[in-house]
Order: sequence, then C-alpha cells, then structure tokens
Amino acid sequence: MQSHLKNILKQQQQADLYRTRKIHQKTFLNFSSNDYLGLANHPSLKTTWQQAADKYGIGSGGSHLITGHTQAHHELETTLAAYTQRERALLFSTGYMANLGVITSLVGRHDAIFLDKLNHASLIDAALLSRAKIHRYAHNNISNLEKLLEKSSAKHKLIITDGVFSMDGDIALLADIAQIANKYQAWLMVDDAHGLGILGNNGRGSLEMYNLDAENVPILMGTLGKAFGTFGAFIAGSELLIETLIQSARSYIYTTALPPALAATIKTSIEIAKQEPWRRQHLHELIKYFRTNAAKLKIPLTDSITPIQAIIIGDSKSAIAASEALYEHRIIVTAIRPPTVPQGTARLRITLSALHDKKQIDELLAALVNVI
Ligand SMILES: *Cc1c(COP(=O)(O)O)cnc(C)c1O
Repeated sequence: MQSHLKNILKQQQQADLYRTRKIHQKTFLNFSSNDYLGLANHPSLKTTWQQAADKYGIGSGGSHLITGHTQAHHELETTLAAYTQRERALLFSTGYMANLGVITSLVGRHDAIFLDKLNHASLIDAALLSRAKIHRYAHNNISNLEKLLEKSSAKHKLIITDGVFSMDGDIALLADIAQIANKYQAWLMVDDAHGLGILGNNGRGSLEMYNLDAENVPILMGTLGKAFGTFGAFIAGSELLIETLIQSARSYIYTTALPPALAATIKTSIEIAKQEPWRRQHLHELIKYFRTNAAKLKIPLTDSITPIQAIIIGDSKSAIAASEALYEHRIIVTAIRPPTVPQGTARLRITLSALHDKKQIDELLAALVNVI
C-alpha cells in the first residue's frame, strides 16, 4: 500500500496539484475567507457560545432522532424557516451532508438529475450516490438544459444549481431555470451557500434577488459556515419536504447532532446579520470599489457582483506562483486548481469581507498588479 500511495502523491506533485494545509503564524491580510459578513469573531456570538455551553454542555450526546435534539436546535430551525420564508427548515451538520441527504431522499434509480457543469462537488457526489441518471448541462446554459429535459423520460426530474457559483462568483439564471422547471414539471433545488446573507434587499439570497418563492424553488439549501460565520447547514422547504427528510435523509439520521451551544450561536448570528445591514451594504460597496479599480489597472476579473472575485491564470504552476508572491506581501489569496475548477482555468480566488476597508483593497490591488 505504501508504494501505491507514494505514487499517487508523486503524480499530484508533478502536476502542480499537491494540496497542503497552512497554519498562518503572522498577521496577514486575508482575502480567502468565506466569512463574508465578518461575523466569525463577533463578540455577541462568543458570548452566546459561552452562555449556551454553560447551559447545555458541549456535546449533543446523540443523533437528532435519539436524544441529540434540543430546544436550541428547534429555535434555530424556526429562525431559519422564518429567514427563508418557508414552512420549515431542517438543520444538518454540514452543507455537504445536507446535499447528500436531500438529494438521495428525493430521487432514485428511475429518476433524473440535471446539474450545472460548475455545481459544487457535494452536489455531484450526492447525485452519484442517489443512483439517478445524471445529466450535466453547460454552465448557465438554459437551452442546453431544456434540450436535456425534453429528451428525458425519467419519472421524476430534479434540477440542481448553485445560486452563486463558488469558484467564479457569478449567479445562476434562476428566473429562466425556474420557468423551464415549471414547463417540464421538474423539481428545482438551489444550493445558495454563497448567496444567502449577501444577495437580495434583505440578504435572503439569490432567490430574493430574483423574487422567487417556495413555489418556484421548493428545495433551498443554505450553509452557515459562510456569510453567517459559524458552521452547519440546512434545507428549507415545505412541511412535507422536511418531514420526509426526517424519515429518510441518512446523513441526517445517522450522525450526531450539532453541539446545542453552536445551534444557539448560529441563531444569534442570523439575528445580527438582520440587525446590522451595514455589513452587507459595506461589502457591496467594497465589491464595486474593487472592480472599478481593478478595471483601471487592467486586472482581468470574472464577471461577478458577489464577494467572490476570480482572476483566471490558466496553468496551476503560475497560479501557485502568483498566490505565493502575494503571500510574500502578507496577503492571503488561495490558488484554486483542478479538479476544483476545469483544466486550464487555475485561478486566484479573491473573497471580500465586510471587515475589509478600502485601504486594504488598495493594498491588494497594488500587490496584484505586480504578481499577475
Ligand atoms: C461550501 C459549500 C458547500 C458545503 O458546505 P459545508 O457546510 O462547508 O459542508 C456546499 N455547496 C456549496 C455551493 C458550497 O460552497
């Protein structure tokens, strides 16, 4: 086995695809975090966490269906349902697990799933696990999606798209997709991991931006480790959908419930996101500022109005070199390489946060000019 593993790792290295984990000891300017609203270090979250730990202890002690479900989890689910304007919400330990759970519960062998080519890895894995027939349509290409739907004779059809695409920052054409879903009697699921808390007048995500409701998009997935700065994920939908998941989502049933103190903390985080809209507003101002000035400096960005701003470099080696050069300037911008992104599109993925200021953006831009 050892020599087999050695070979695998050597190949990764030779292809410039070797992944390492960094522990950053010094102070850096971080442009790679998904803590878009800057809530991860919020003092009220820390206080809630401490007080709830005193009340509930640390571990939940079991799965939700045995003894792990507490008042804190229940209140969080109520908050999430209200936030997303749906009948109910169901808390999962991670977004990866939420996607596995909902997709395998909804479709099986005689059904078909339609996935955008750039969908998140967890959606692809969930689709594979479901055993449904998988169709992947070209990125945001509605006519391609329609052709595939037209040809399908599957019993149930499920269309799944990211709301905001995680490596490019662009937004799904949700109004068109919802229309097509309706036309072909397909169910529509949106993974809004990067839209929730950020997009829409009230931060309710990509669906609010497009004015789509639970009728148009019956299955909504959101994560709590990104804009909400904490951890975990949820599915929001109808009473029937949530009850079905409680009965059948294996990644919900066969796993330990989140620590209750964490559930209480997440609830505080959602309340703060609502009470402090300046975070979202400031973030959008920074995005505009960054884009305007990048254009002046001829820094090529992908088309994105979200905090995810990518610079396509091409080959993995150059992307790593650019990232390392930025690191020398004490700026963290991660290089994203295949298979996370398609071959030949290795990139710098910059993420902006409400905790940045314009001076820091200037610093980033100045450094970028020198390294790309
Ligand atoms: C991060 C992410 C997930 C996974 O969420 P976790 O809670 O980190 O497991 C799922 N989908 C998308 C689009 C994501 O960006």
